[in-house]
Amino acid sequence: MSQFWSAVVGGLTPYVPGEQPKLANLVKLNTNENPYGPSPRVLEALRAEANERLRLYPDPNSDRLREGIAAYHDVTADQVFVGNGSDEVLAHAFLALLRHDKPILFPDITYSFYPVYCGLYEIGYRTVPLTETFEIRVDDYLGPNGGIIFPNPNAPTGRLLDRAEIERLLQGNPDSVVVVDEAYIDFGGLSAVGLVARYPQLLVTRTLSKSHALAGLRVGYAIGQAHLIEALNRVKDSFNSYPLDRFAQAGALASMQDRAYFESICSRVVATRERLVAEMTQLGFEVLPSAANFIFARHPGHDGAALAAALRERSIVVRHFRQPERIAPFLRITVGTDAQCDALVDALKALC
Ligand SMILES: *Cc1c(COP(=O)(O)O)cnc(C)c1O
Repeated sequence: MSQFWSAVVGGLTPYVPGEQPKLANLVKLNTNENPYGPSPRVLEALRAEANERLRLYPDPNSDRLREGIAAYHDVTADQVFVGNGSDEVLAHAFLALLRHDKPILFPDITYSFYPVYCGLYEIGYRTVPLTETFEIRVDDYLGPNGGIIFPNPNAPTGRLLDRAEIERLLQGNPDSVVVVDEAYIDFGGLSAVGLVARYPQLLVTRTLSKSHALAGLRVGYAIGQAHLIEALNRVKDSFNSYPLDRFAQAGALASMQDRAYFESICSRVVATRERLVAEMTQLGFEVLPSAANFIFARHPGHDGAALAAALRERSIVVRHFRQPERIAPFLRITVGTDAQCDALVDALKALC
């Protein structure tokens, strides 16, 4: 029935998210969710929100939440934009800030939603190969471009770019918007938010899906100087004035305010990651250094797809990417609880 489709829909190549299996009792290590629950204060805030006021529209500007995020990052509320997951924030950034005459740049191995947004908004792009060791080389991003975007730490590699290198990238690109997607920064890197005051072209995006254990609530945000935030608001208010419902605003605010809780779950994940890296290295895996809540690993004696399928038979789900070919030998494994990682290591001992 595609005769009813618009030309643009026919030409899209949509993003394929990791599987959300309906089976119970799976060890689910495929979509980088946090293995721990959100802060008890979040649940309390959500319960308090379940009342007759749901008949009213939520605050379209999420003022209290933006103030809470601003306080957390020591910026002002007009430097904060919030959206329905950072995917929505990123989508608006592509349209508002990255759609220019020249192609934008991003790594050849990166978050696979970026080329999808380029397709949706008809934005030209050029991918820049990571080095042999899967690192971003700033010198490759210093030519003419319509904007730059990359995750830090990068996905699915987990590799971190130092803040000094990000600063060098910004100094070499004074006229391009640079978007640093910090979906995983709470698991091990220094944030670029501290550079926002000095660089008018820098936009940093964040999500509560991973470090705050709130993937189900759908809240993400961006921090940048007010002129960049205004551009995002112009797109938002041309698309959906109420992207965050009452629950999302209240729950996200409570989470931002419970810093001690979320820092404690992040450190647990980091401790488990270090243990998992050591054990997988023992089994003969090559594991890239990770600053995220997942690891990217390959075994010289085993095919990536076959290993993922064999784990699945043992009720353990990890993510495998067939493309680009360079990463086909790798598995991307979310760091779960200690018990989940033990189950993974036991299965791998039997397989490798
Ligand atoms: C998970 C992820 C996102 C999206 O997060 P949501 O806030 O859940 O939409 C954005 N960028 C990268 C690199 C991610 O891995």
